[in-house]
Amino acid sequence: MNNQEKTFAKGGISVDTEHIFPIIKKWLYSEKDIFLREIVSNAADAITKLRRLSSLGVREATEESYRITVTLDAEAGTLTVEDNGIGMTEEELTKYLCNIALSGAVDFIRQYEGENEGSKNGIIGHFGLGFYSVFMVSDRVEVDTKSYTDAPAVRWLCSESGEYETFASDRTERGTAVILHIAEEEKEYLSVSKLRAMLEKYCAFMPEEIYFVDAAKEEEADKTPEPINDTHPLWQKQPSEVTEEEYKEFYRKIFADYREPLFHIHINADYPLNFKGILYFPKLANEYETIEGQVKLYYNQVYVADNIKEIIPEYLLMLKGVVDCPELPLNVSRSYLQTNTYVSKVSAHIVKKVADKLCALCANERERYAAIWRDISPFIEYACMKDKKFYDRVNGALLLTLTDGESVTLSDYLESAKETHENKVYYATDKALQAQYIAMFEAQGIKVALFDRPIDTQFATLMEQYREGVKFLRVDADVADALKGDGEISESEELKRVFGEVLGEKVTLKFDALKDESVPAILNVTEESRRMEEMMRFYNMGEGGFPTESTLILNTTSPLIEKLEQTAKEDEERAKEMASYLYKLSMLSQKKFSAEEMQGFMKDSFALLMKL
Ligand code: ADP
Repeated sequence: MNNQEKTFAKGGISVDTEHIFPIIKKWLYSEKDIFLREIVSNAADAITKLRRLSSLGVREATEESYRITVTLDAEAGTLTVEDNGIGMTEEELTKYLCNIALSGAVDFIRQYEGENEGSKNGIIGHFGLGFYSVFMVSDRVEVDTKSYTDAPAVRWLCSESGEYETFASDRTERGTAVILHIAEEEKEYLSVSKLRAMLEKYCAFMPEEIYFVDAAKEEEADKTPEPINDTHPLWQKQPSEVTEEEYKEFYRKIFADYREPLFHIHINADYPLNFKGILYFPKLANEYETIEGQVKLYYNQVYVADNIKEIIPEYLLMLKGVVDCPELPLNVSRSYLQTNTYVSKVSAHIVKKVADKLCALCANERERYAAIWRDISPFIEYACMKDKKFYDRVNGALLLTLTDGESVTLSDYLESAKETHENKVYYATDKALQAQYIAMFEAQGIKVALFDRPIDTQFATLMEQYREGVKFLRVDADVADALKGDGEISESEELKRVFGEVLGEKVTLKFDALKDESVPAILNVTEESRRMEEMMRFYNMGEGGFPTESTLILNTTSPLIEKLEQTAKEDEERAKEMASYLYKLSMLSQKKFSAEEMQGFMKDSFALLMKL
C-alpha cells in the first residue's frame, strides 16, 4: 500500500463551539491578509526552536542554513510555506493543530462574538488566530511535516469545515510545509504582487530568512535568490554599532521618504522594560502636509500594526519609526492594550526618551537644534499642551524663534528681560504687518519672539498658566517702558478735541513721549481683548471685526504730532482730516484692513494727493 493512502486517523477538529470556521471567516473578514504572517511566523518559530535545541546541546549543532520558502503556484491554486525547522511528530501535530490552538481561538471569539459591530472596530487591526487563520482564504489545507526526531513524517489534510485526515508521509526532509489550497473566491491571494506586498508588510524583519518563489517563473540559474527580509533589523543593534548613514538609509527604505529625518531616537531597553525601537522626527515639506506619521509595532520582528496610540501617545503620532515589544502577545485587543501595564510603561518610556533627546539636543547641539526648531516647534508645543508631564520634561528645551532669526530658550529670554521687561515676552504674529512695532522694540534692545503659527499663541496661553507671573504680549498690546523717553508728556486739549470727533467711542486717546520720534501714533489693543476676539473668530462667533477696545497713543516727541496740534489751532477741518488719516495709518500697521476699510483708506489717500 502506498504510504499516502494509509489513513492514520480521521476526525473533526475538537472544539466546543459549533461552526467555528464560518465564525473565523466572518470575524476576520477585513483582516484576511494576516494569515500569511501567522504561517510564516510559525515557520520562523519552528526554526528558532530548532536552533535552541542545538544551543542546548539536545541536538548536534550543524552548519546548515535555515530558511523559509513561500511558493506560489497560481496554476495549481496553492500557496506553500515551508520551513526546515523543528517539524512535528504525528502526536504533536494532532495536539497542536487539532485542539489547543483552536481553543485559544474559541476563547477569542467568545469574547468578541457578543459585542456589537462598533466594538469590533475597537479590536486593533491585526490579531492572529494562529494557524487557523489560513481557513479565511483556503478551502483545504495540507500540512506535511517531519520532526527533527526519528519519528516518521506525517501528512495532514483538513477541509474548511474542520474535517481532517492524517496520513503517513514520504517526506524525507526535516521541517514543515503548509500547503494552502486557495478558495475560489480568494483568488487575489494567487497574485505575485499581492503576496509580495503582504510579505513586505508583515515579514520584512522576521528573524529567519524568507525566500519567495513564483512557480510560474523559471529562476535564472546564475542568480542566487535573495531573502525578502532583513533578519537583523537596525533596532536590534546597539546604538553604538550603527552609523548615522545606516539610520537614514533604514528610514528611507521603510518610509519611502526621500527627505532626511530631522533626528532619531534609538531605544534599546532590556531591563526592567524589554523593548526596542527607533523613532524618527520627520521633516515636513510644509505645514499643510499631513502630520500623520507612522510608527510600526512589531512583536519579535513580526509586524503587528501601525500607530497604536496606547504605545505612542496621540500627540507623538507624527513620529515615524518602529517599536518592537516582545512582551506583547500577537493577539492583542484594544481593551488589552488599554489595561496592560507593560504597554503603559512602554508608552511612558517612549515619551521620556523623546523628551530626553530634545533636552540633549538643546544642551549639546544647540546650533542644530535651533535650525530644526521651526520644524519641530508646532509638535512640541502641541505635545506640551496635551501632556503636562511632557512639558515638565522639555521645559528647558523650549526655544523662542526671534524676529531677527535667532533663537533663545524661553528661560534665557526671561533672564535677559529682567532689566527691561521683567516676566514679559513680547511677540509678533506677522513680521511684515507689525514691522513698525518690531523695529521700535528692537531699537531699544528688546527681543521679539515670532509666533506666526496659530498654535504659538495657544501655547503662549498655556505657558502663562505653567509659568507663574509670565505674560506674553503682542508688540501692539502695550508700550513697553523701555520705549518711553523721560520727556514731559503734554496732553494737548486741541488734539483731544479733534481726535474726539474722529475716533469712535471705543478708542481711547492717550499721550506718550516715545524715544522714537519718527512714529507719530500707535494703536494698542490689550492682549486680553485681542485674544478674546481671536477666540471668537476661531469659534466663528461674531464678525471678527476690530476688537472692541483699543487705545490710540499719540507720540508727543513726533514732529508730525506737533504739526497736527498747530493745525488744530488754525484749521479745524484740516486737522480732522489729518487725524482721521493718521488713525487709519496706525490701524493699518495693527491689523489687516477689511475690504471696506481698505477702500476708504484708498479714497482718503487719493484725496490727500489731490491737495499736494
Ligand atoms: P501559536 O503559534 O500561537 O502557538 P498556532 O495555531 O499558530 O498557535 O500554532 C499551534 C502550534 O502548532 C504551534 O505552537 C506549534 O507548536 C505548531 N506549529 C505550527 N506551525 C508549525 C511549523 N511550521 N513547524 C512546527 N510546528 C508548528
